[in-house]
Amino acid sequence: MSLCKRCFTESIEEKTRATIAKYRMFRFDDTIAVAVSGGKDSVSLLQVLAKIELRHPKARLVAVTVDEGIRGYRDEALKIAAENCEKLSVEHRVVSFKELFGYTFDQMVKRMKGKDSVKLTPCAYCGVLRRKALNTAARKIGADKLATAHTLDDEVQTILLNILHGDVLRIAKEKPVTDEVHPKFVPRIKPFCEIPEKETALYAYVKGIRFQSTPCPYASEALRNDARAMLNMMEEKHPGIKFTIFKSIEKIRPAIEETAKKEGLRECIECGEPTTEKICRTCQLRKLLK
Ligand code: SF4
Ligand code: ZN
Repeated sequence: MSLCKRCFTESIEEKTRATIAKYRMFRFDDTIAVAVSGGKDSVSLLQVLAKIELRHPKARLVAVTVDEGIRGYRDEALKIAAENCEKLSVEHRVVSFKELFGYTFDQMVKRMKGKDSVKLTPCAYCGVLRRKALNTAARKIGADKLATAHTLDDEVQTILLNILHGDVLRIAKEKPVTDEVHPKFVPRIKPFCEIPEKETALYAYVKGIRFQSTPCPYASEALRNDARAMLNMMEEKHPGIKFTIFKSIEKIRPAIEETAKKEGLRECIECGEPTTEKICRTCQLRKLLK
């Protein structure tokens, strides 16, 4: 059954509301930081959350964009993110790698390239630093939650990648709502975790929302690309299979959590930020950059 444009956008908003209620993602008076990169998923999430916020006058929404310092890429995304926030009257904060870590991402990549000991792809260390930047920004805002635009596709790809990397216990951590508790850690929620990427993209098109479509010049996650292609091929042949995988993991996650050694968050001995290790991964990366 095909839906008209209005019914389609309302169905996405309704599904998001249902996901938020099912996983008890928000309280009515929460301050919610939303990670907005300027890509289609994050601008769609901002639009949906801004609409939901209208029904909750005590809630507060603040968009956060991480400026990694990637020339010819992030500059455009920053403008798009700012434009979307202005249209929706949502407060917008920008946090930069240069200001937090002392280097732009372009400079980091150059420095890392010269080191034989570094086997990480740019996305691997960018991901660590982005998470840290978002947590720091959300904490400064006084946010109760940090919402990210991970879709059903992202979630299922991550499940498969954890299996392919032999890191199956990590599945216990990748939940729709994080349950790690630490005064310096802002809990993360994923309101789009049950919505396919195709639908969030269509939502942006139908709503006429401007988003960035230029790919990041450092995007290089070869294994994730293979996982995405394989899952898309399976979904094409067996519609609904991504959702089935997601639901199956939801069912067995409590058992995985039992097996996984629960690592509580503590403070990094160097920077004091929350981490499961003695020295957080950001500080480990900082050392490599020197
Ligand atoms: Fe960072 Fe990779 Fe995303 Fe580029 S694609 S912004 S390097 S995580
Ligand atoms: Zn640290």
